[in-house]
Amino acid sequence: MIAAYRLDTGEIGTESLTRIAELLRRRLLRLCGVEPRGEAPFVLRLAVGTGEGEGYSIADLPPSGVAVTGDSARGLLYGVGRFLRGCRFGQGAFEPSAWRGTSAPAMSLRAMYFATHFHNWYHDAPVEEIVRYVEDLGLWGCNTIAVWFDMHHYSGLDDPAARRMIGRLRTILEAAAGLGLDTCLMGLANEAFRDSPSDLRADWTAGHDGYTKPPGGHYHVELCPSRPGALDLLLRWRGEVLQAFRDLGPRYTVIWPYDQGGCTCAACTPWGANGFLRAAEAVAGLTREILPQSRIVLSTWYFNHFIPGEWEALCRRFAAGAPEWIDYLLVDDYDGFPELPFSRGVPGGLPVVGFPEISMAGNSPWGGFGALVRPRHWEQYWHTVRGLLQGSFPYSEGRHDDISKVLLLQWQWDPDRAAGEILTEYAETHLTPAVAGDAGRLAYLLEEDLGLHAVVRPEDGQPVYRHRNPGRAEEAYELARSIDGRLPAHVALGWRWRLLWLRAAIGAEIRSGGGASTALLERCFEELVCLYSAEEAERPVAPPSRRQMARLRQSVAAAAG
Ligand SMILES: [Zn+2]
Repeated sequence: MIAAYRLDTGEIGTESLTRIAELLRRRLLRLCGVEPRGEAPFVLRLAVGTGEGEGYSIADLPPSGVAVTGDSARGLLYGVGRFLRGCRFGQGAFEPSAWRGTSAPAMSLRAMYFATHFHNWYHDAPVEEIVRYVEDLGLWGCNTIAVWFDMHHYSGLDDPAARRMIGRLRTILEAAAGLGLDTCLMGLANEAFRDSPSDLRADWTAGHDGYTKPPGGHYHVELCPSRPGALDLLLRWRGEVLQAFRDLGPRYTVIWPYDQGGCTCAACTPWGANGFLRAAEAVAGLTREILPQSRIVLSTWYFNHFIPGEWEALCRRFAAGAPEWIDYLLVDDYDGFPELPFSRGVPGGLPVVGFPEISMAGNSPWGGFGALVRPRHWEQYWHTVRGLLQGSFPYSEGRHDDISKVLLLQWQWDPDRAAGEILTEYAETHLTPAVAGDAGRLAYLLEEDLGLHAVVRPEDGQPVYRHRNPGRAEEAYELARSIDGRLPAHVALGWRWRLLWLRAAIGAEIRSGGGASTALLERCFEELVCLYSAEEAERPVAPPSRRQMARLRQSVAAAAG
């Protein structure tokens, strides 16, 4: 065990490298209480090559030490992550990682999208927690952090609330950029501020021009690009938003068709291959002017959900090749990965990125019952899509999906890894090696208990809790209690374990109590409120305690009356 080390950062001078060295120092201090000392015989050397790649090497440094060398600043970050995951920690000492070799990622776009809305954790937690989480994900191989400035909440960029949100998003993106990671802005092709002119607004009704359903999530303030003057206004507003982030140099800009967004009018139909493309091309052109380095990602999310034939129409539009203003096509769906790119080829032959929804599936409210763990589901997804993708932007509503993030980040680094192996590494890193096997088993047991939901009983307004699957909740809870008893105190109290423990306890208590609200459930849900900073959370993301559900009912009643 090493009780003291010397941190050798050589000629490291750039801000990113200084931050990565500082990150390593802070993590070692937190994990075992060891700080660098100038005279220590054991040396940790951090270095960076001259390349642009994202790989790293970890080698012996005779007579006593380890050298972590990145191909670039972010390669060093990933090497530091690999080194830390391989170390074993005691009180005041650590056993350095025994792993030696070189490693580089298979896929070039290993992003994460933080949804900052509904007063979820990204929206309301102390921003220092989010910054530290960006570091966590960087250590696991993430190379891009994506955010969305959701215009419809605000009257314009002069709105003080808009300025506060811009400031928060900038802090998150600056944390990523400070570590040498890329940043990404998302937005709708026809996105608008809250008080958009009503005569320029998009149609969102269905039952005409081929639309069988109104577009989901539409806020009814979006603009119709076919109305005279609307495209100019869309571009003016989009330009203001892009300018607010220009100095951060976002590497990617994703332009969305739906959810929210879209226009169902006759002139825009079918939106995905007509009005959307016109608006997106104009937005892409403006983006290239303001952010010349930004790659344009065209999203196809929810194509064919509200009108049939959008995918097929896009194929026809791109039959002779994709327009030069598109760099990537984003392909994915809440209801399973679209089939068309496999059967007919990718429209225009574009590189494809995914958008796996890792936060909601199965439970309502999302994450309201603790950790959402789906290793079987994501392993199956991965085997289906890995040959098609250049990477992905998983959609996240908070920290309850942390295990799914790590699975996807690690598959994008090494597509052949087994889910069980990644789960073991996760548990060894974030829990303790002694429980890694049991924690992996717990993850699979919890996946059998999806479909938990909270409803209000009409006769007395009290919450009741339901499950949709037979599950093995009692077995999971028993295993969780056994693991809990074997964890060091600081791990047992950490948010990663508490989210897993609460998830197991809640699943078992819902069954043993027949779905009634109990004192234990109330304590569990209130602990989740603390862990998520969810005091103000909206219904989709609020842990369903009696208190929280009463608060939400009151706010609905106040809004109605
Ligand atoms: Zn329209």
